[in-house]
Amino acid sequence: MFLFATTISRSAQNPSCVVLLRRSITQKAFAKTSSRTRTLAKSQGKVVILGSGWAGFGLMRQLDKKNYDVTVVSPRNYFVFTPLLASTSVGTLEFRCITEPVRGYSKDVDYHEAWCNKIDFDNQLIHCSSNLDDNKDEKFTLDYDKLVISVGAYSNTFNTPGVKEHGIFLKDINDARRIRARVLECFEYAAQPGLSEEEKSRKLHFAVVGGGPTGVEFSAELYDFITEDLSRLYPQLMDYTRMTVYDVAPKILGNFDKNLSNYATSKFKRRGIQIKTGTHVLEVKKDSLCLKEEGEVPFGMLIWSTGLMHNPLVESMTQVAKEPKSQRIITDRHLRVLDKDSQIPIPSVYAMGDCATIQEYDLPATAQVANQKANYLSKVFNREARGKEITEKGFSFDNRGSMAYIGKWEAVVDMTPVHQKATEGGHMAWLFWR
Ligand SMILES: Cc1cc2nc3c(=O)[nH]c(=O)nc-3n(C[C@H](O)[C@H](O)[C@H](O)COP(=O)(O)OP(=O)(O)OC[C@H]3O[C@@H](n4cnc5c(N)ncnc54)[C@H](O)[C@@H]3O)c2cc1C
Repeated sequence: MFLFATTISRSAQNPSCVVLLRRSITQKAFAKTSSRTRTLAKSQGKVVILGSGWAGFGLMRQLDKKNYDVTVVSPRNYFVFTPLLASTSVGTLEFRCITEPVRGYSKDVDYHEAWCNKIDFDNQLIHCSSNLDDNKDEKFTLDYDKLVISVGAYSNTFNTPGVKEHGIFLKDINDARRIRARVLECFEYAAQPGLSEEEKSRKLHFAVVGGGPTGVEFSAELYDFITEDLSRLYPQLMDYTRMTVYDVAPKILGNFDKNLSNYATSKFKRRGIQIKTGTHVLEVKKDSLCLKEEGEVPFGMLIWSTGLMHNPLVESMTQVAKEPKSQRIITDRHLRVLDKDSQIPIPSVYAMGDCATIQEYDLPATAQVANQKANYLSKVFNREARGKEITEKGFSFDNRGSMAYIGKWEAVVDMTPVHQKATEGGHMAWLFWR
C-alpha cells in the first residue's frame, strides 16, 4: 500500500516530461550555436532523422557522429520504451523508467522539437513547425544530405465516430498519464455518497477495444492494479468493478499460436475479464459504447487499441510509392524510398519503422522490426563513411517471436518462428517476458 501511494504521488508531480521539456527549451538556445559551429561540415554531410521512436532513436544512437552531422526532428524530445507503457499507465513503473531523452544521449546530435510537415525531395529540404508552446507552429526549413523518415503511425479509429473525443489511446507517455488519472477518477467518483448501484457499475466498467497484444497487456496490467492495489483502497467497490475486452476478430491475440490464444482467453475468463469477440463498435459516446450486437453499453473509461493508420506526413507524400492497403511507404531492401512512378530509389531518402514496409517483404509493425532496421541502416551508413559499399543482400529480419503479459505474473511466449514447438504460457513465460 505504501509503495503504491508513493507511486501515485510521484506521478502527480509529473516529473520526467517537465524536466525533459525544460531541458529542451534551455538547450535549444545552445543548439543554434552548435549548428553554426558545425557549418564546417563533417565528411559525410548531414543526416536528418524524422522521429525519436524505436527506429529514429535507434539509428541516432548508433550513427558515426565523427563523420556525420546528425539532426533529429521530432515533436517529442524523448524515446519511449513502448512494451512497458501499459505498466506505467497503472503505476507499476514510473514514467521516467521507460523514457530516454534525445539530448541526453549525445552532445553531437542536433535536435529540434518540431513536426516535419512537408518534404521537398527535389531540393532536399524539409519544412517543419515548432511543437513548443512558446513558439507553436513557427515554421523553419532544414536541408539534408541523407533523410531518414521514421515518423511511426497513428492509432486507427476506422472512422468510428466519437473515438478521438471519448476514448483514450495508448501510444505515448501522455496517454499513460491520462489513463492513470482516469482510473482513479472513476473510483473516486463511485466512492461518493448518494450514488445508485447502477451508477457505480457504469462508472466502474473499464472497456478495452482491441484484443491484440497491446489491448491484452493493458487489460492484464489494469486487472493487477485493481485486484492488488485498488481492492485495498476501495474494498466496498469491488463488486461493482468489471472489465471487458471487445474485438471484431473471432479471438484475442490472433497473431499468436492458437493454443496460446486459447490459454490467454481462458485465463481472462476465469479472472472475470469478459471477452467479447466478433463484436462491432459502431460509435463511442461520452459515457457509453454503441455495439452492433448489444446496443448501448456504459463505461467509465474506454481504451482504444485497434491497430494503426498512416501518419499525416506520409499521407502528404504524393511522390513516393505506398502499399495500397496500409499506405505505408515502400522501400527497397536497403530501406531506400521508392519513387511512385519509376519505382527506383529517390536519392538519399530512407524510411523505416511503422511508417514503412519493404517491397515484397512485408513485416509486422513492431518495435522488433523497427529496431533491427535501425541497426541495419546505421551499419550501412557507417560502412559508407568508411568508404565501403552496401552489400547486395540488404535487410533481412530475424524474427524472435512474440510475447504478451496476461496478468498475475503470467505471460504467453510464442517463439514458433525460431522453433516449431517453442510456445509457453504461465509463470515461466512471464519470467522470460520480463
Ligand atoms: C503500448 C504499446 C506496446 C507495444 N509493445 C510492443 C512489444 O512488446 N514488442 C514490439 O515489437 N512492439 C511493440 N509495440 C509496437 C512498437 O512500439 C512500434 O512498432 C514501434 O514504436 C515503431 O517504431 P517507430 O520508430 O516506427 O515509431 P514510434 O516509436 O511510434 O516513433 C515515431 C516517432 O515519430 C515522431 N513523429 C510523428 N510524426 C512526426 C512528424 N511529422 N515529424 C517528425 N517526427 C514525427 C513521434 O513523435 C515519435 O517520436 C508496442 C506499441 C505500443 C503502443
